[in-house]
Amino acid sequence: MPLTNLKALVTSGPTYEPIDPVRFIGNHSSGKQGHAIAAALAKAGADVTLISGPVTLPDPAGVKTLHVETAQDMLAACESALPTDIAICAAAVGDWRVKTLADHKLKKRENTDELTLTFIQNPDILKTLSNHKNRPKLIVGFASETNDLIDNAQAKLQHKGCDWILANDVSAGKTFGADENHVYLITQSETQEWPRARKSEIAQTLVQNIIKEFK
Ligand code: C5P
Repeated sequence: MPLTNLKALVTSGPTYEPIDPVRFIGNHSSGKQGHAIAAALAKAGADVTLISGPVTLPDPAGVKTLHVETAQDMLAACESALPTDIAICAAAVGDWRVKTLADHKLKKRENTDELTLTFIQNPDILKTLSNHKNRPKLIVGFASETNDLIDNAQAKLQHKGCDWILANDVSAGKTFGADENHVYLITQSETQEWPRARKSEIAQTLVQNIIKEFK
């Protein structure tokens, strides 16, 4: 099989950032695209570790799946999977977490109807892996943009230090949870528009490009 002897890590799904013992901030990522990529890499023979936030999808067959909730745990799980040849960061990682996690359920108060929480920035997993001493040879990130898709995705490629970006236009609000995706592959040297396709087909097209890269 074309990717036999290569190791890959894939992040997928949302993160949940707790506020107190019963509440969290999450997002609507379904994990469909990341899980499909993990499955397609495994089908091509790669040894795949999938690091998944909370999703309702089953673990893909033939893939070692680690379940995490927070961005910090997702980063630690990624680092524990290194060294790998390939990293695909498809997770919708929460950019922020509360500075002080309440140890009791936050209560309504009589004298005010306001609640103030202070947030601090989470680690950027894609950027951390791209600058890691055990950097995977090929790192792919995603960019969901609502305007200036290509320009913003090219800037993201430089800023994050990854090798490829799969960029999609989310202005129509059709990507999160959908079965189809319309993406551009952006590398240092080229931009390819891929036809709108099911997320499983996007995963296969990405894997074909990865196979070419490792030939
Ligand atoms: O910065 P932005 O969230 O637009 O970047 C999206 C890309 O960065 C995705 O590949 C996502 O998985 C990754 N990312 C990450 N850790 C974060 C934020 C984003 O790995 N904290």
